[in-house]
Amino acid sequence: VTIFVPRDSTALALGANETAAAIAREAKARGIDIKLVRNGSRGMFWLEPLVEVATDAGRIAFGPIEEHEVAGLFDAGFTTGGSHPKALGLTEEIPYLKKQERLQFVRVGVTDPVSLDDYLAHEGYVGLKNAIAMEPAAIVQQVTDSGLRGRGGAAFPTGIKWKTVLGAEAPQKYIACNADEGDSGTFSDRMVMEDDPFMLIEGMTIAGLAVKATEGYIYVRSEYPHSIANLNEAIVAANKAGYLGENILGSGRTFNLQVRKAAGAYVCGEETAMLESIEGKRGMVRAKPPLPALQGLFGQPTVINNVISLSAVPLIMSRGAEFYKNYGMGRSRGTLPMQLAGNLKYGGLVEKAFGVTLRELLYDFGGGSESGRPIRAVQVGGPLGAYMPESLFDTPFDYEAFAAVASTVGHGGLVAFDDTVDMAKQARYAMHFCAEESCGKCTPCRIGSTRGVEVMDKIIANQNRPQQIHLLRDLCDVMVTGSLCAMGNMTPFPVLSALNHFPEDFGDQKTLAN
Ligand code: SF4
Repeated sequence: VTIFVPRDSTALALGANETAAAIAREAKARGIDIKLVRNGSRGMFWLEPLVEVATDAGRIAFGPIEEHEVAGLFDAGFTTGGSHPKALGLTEEIPYLKKQERLQFVRVGVTDPVSLDDYLAHEGYVGLKNAIAMEPAAIVQQVTDSGLRGRGGAAFPTGIKWKTVLGAEAPQKYIACNADEGDSGTFSDRMVMEDDPFMLIEGMTIAGLAVKATEGYIYVRSEYPHSIANLNEAIVAANKAGYLGENILGSGRTFNLQVRKAAGAYVCGEETAMLESIEGKRGMVRAKPPLPALQGLFGQPTVINNVISLSAVPLIMSRGAEFYKNYGMGRSRGTLPMQLAGNLKYGGLVEKAFGVTLRELLYDFGGGSESGRPIRAVQVGGPLGAYMPESLFDTPFDYEAFAAVASTVGHGGLVAFDDTVDMAKQARYAMHFCAEESCGKCTPCRIGSTRGVEVMDKIIANQNRPQQIHLLRDLCDVMVTGSLCAMGNMTPFPVLSALNHFPEDFGDQKTLAN
């Protein structure tokens, strides 16, 4: 019998290794022959460690199972269909999972992440095989036709970026994957790298074929040791099997890939600061132009995409642009792996087509707040995302719909707060975060964020509030229009959204009319 215990770091943090070891021990002691597979996580974190047993009808789930509960599981005969209080039925039938539209995350939690055979058995490398038979321009066209837009937050059309790099003449081109997932409450990149690393590797290889780049880098934050380990293991396996390196699948094409470990600076998630860091320099933002697509890594044309964007590519190349494009709404095509975090009952990963509303995610999936109190605010898109009040919970996930309410989809992370949150303190936190993480290159961000913290302190201390709030708005205006990169010009998003949607937390607003 095959038993699955996740190796994803969320599951590990909750004791999956201990549970797995206990299962192996108990099986041996009882003379039961088992095959223990360390799969990725299904993304239902409140159920981790989630133990699954393969049956003819599908996998049966039990969870959460801690080490001390393992003997009881065996006593109940869980490997032979016995019932147990923690039995959850068929995993695929669990509503949280069943209601999703898992296109990209279809293998996540299902396969052994570092098994190439498992990847191949689940539609792996079909996209690359198709791409190898195509001209570079045709690959770029297929990605363009799919409507894929950058999932790191900027939402720039991926195909257009690739076209620019393809059209650039240069002796060397690069693919750089931004895996410096620094946004609060986000983990979709991590789950791809830990739980389905071949998908990212295949996506980058296809990108290399599409723009004629032969070298790729994955820039992974150092806080993700399991991602780095799994990627490196998968890269070795892909090279050995001819899916990476010289003469890929006998095509004569080359693509080499390596992982670079980041050093903990949030700003290195900004694409040009990331390039500086990969080059071995201090992570400072570069002024644009020149665009990285023309002069990027080591001054050469470079495709820079986020993990989720690149790992959408194998699917687009295996199923076709139309298949992908048929999901979504407006100009937001395909699906987005959304990450539910903060004060929610059921935190985890939910992949849905664009168009799902914030309310559906918070209540139908998230189950409302964990504290049982009303959800008052949700920050979407990381620490530089807006705080959205209940009145905006019906906003559909769509880049344009979010922009229309002065918010951003960002990387799809949601952090929920109940009604005990103090929004003035959250606004101060945003300024403080910017002051801590600013690269210091431009004045509005470097000085503005420090002055912003001071102003917020005065507002919180109720010192001449009307004047200070006026000053705060002025400062935000300067930061939005005058900063060189998103760090400075997005910090006002959380600050202004807190001020505009939750004025009661900033004192009496009537005096501000003028
Ligand atoms: Fe650096 Fe901030 Fe200016 Fe960006 S906005 S370049 S992080 S100082």
